[in-house]
Amino acid sequence: MIYTFGIDIGGTNIKIGLFEIYDFKLVEKVEISTPREHQMYSIFDEISKKIENMMHKHGFSYNDIHGVGFAIPCPVKDGYVETCPNLSWSKIDVVRKAKSFLPDHIKVVVSNDANIAAYGENYSLDTPFQNAIFYTLGTGVGGGIIVNGQIVEGRTGSGGEIGHMQVFEGTDICGCGKTGCLEQVCGTKAILNYATELSHKYSSNIDFSNLTVKSVFDAAQNDDIIGQLVLNRVAKYIALSTSILAVSLDPDIIIIGGGVARAGEILIKNIEKYFKHYARFGTIDIPFVLAKTGNDAGIIGAARYTLQ
Ligand SMILES: [Zn+2]
Repeated sequence: MIYTFGIDIGGTNIKIGLFEIYDFKLVEKVEISTPREHQMYSIFDEISKKIENMMHKHGFSYNDIHGVGFAIPCPVKDGYVETCPNLSWSKIDVVRKAKSFLPDHIKVVVSNDANIAAYGENYSLDTPFQNAIFYTLGTGVGGGIIVNGQIVEGRTGSGGEIGHMQVFEGTDICGCGKTGCLEQVCGTKAILNYATELSHKYSSNIDFSNLTVKSVFDAAQNDDIIGQLVLNRVAKYIALSTSILAVSLDPDIIIIGGGVARAGEILIKNIEKYFKHYARFGTIDIPFVLAKTGNDAGIIGAARYTLQ
């Protein structure tokens, strides 16, 4: 059997997925804490040890490994990271680092985590598409763009940073240093703040002492006025941003994922409603679907990316 690894490096945890490539079955998934000190070296040392452990446990050797794919929480261009605040990495060639502890025949691929998730989500659909746009809605709003089956990293690795598309005239400063970003209306914090703001104006069945995105969207499902106003605002801005991407890229599909997307079909239906309003030409018929792979999007995408 031939295996491939998908590794999702986050600021808190590193997830390592071992896949058997013939039917792309997950053999084992392990999660370790991201080492805090000397991250330029320690992260690779830990990963190298884990890969060896897993090989030993499942009784195979480096000869049986096709590839190792990495998802990294910062812009990546051709395997190179200029700076990664989440990991205290700077000017690091991730492909070269990984190749220093892996035999030559093993294929190493690296990209930004949201781009990798886009790749994995597209491949997890019944029929993968050549052109897809993926949104991940959570604390941050990110995404990835697939064109002709390839991840679009762009000139500097910032391709797919769709959470920082300007969609309104704002004054609050976003994490990126600018104003009016999609993340500032569709990220978790924005959703909770808007619900709280509305609670001074409307009565509602939402329990504001234990406010979560889920409780707000559940309320929307039950015709709660605040729940519906929040849902409509999120759906409207996502639709506005997707309509801009749609006339730029005319994708086959738009995939919505991330924690906020657990709201499910009610979110998709509302996005579609607003999208029909904003969309032009034939883009009006582009389908929206919910992402499938959830928390494993990074390892699945990274492993899949080694098979391209
Ligand atoms: Zn921003």
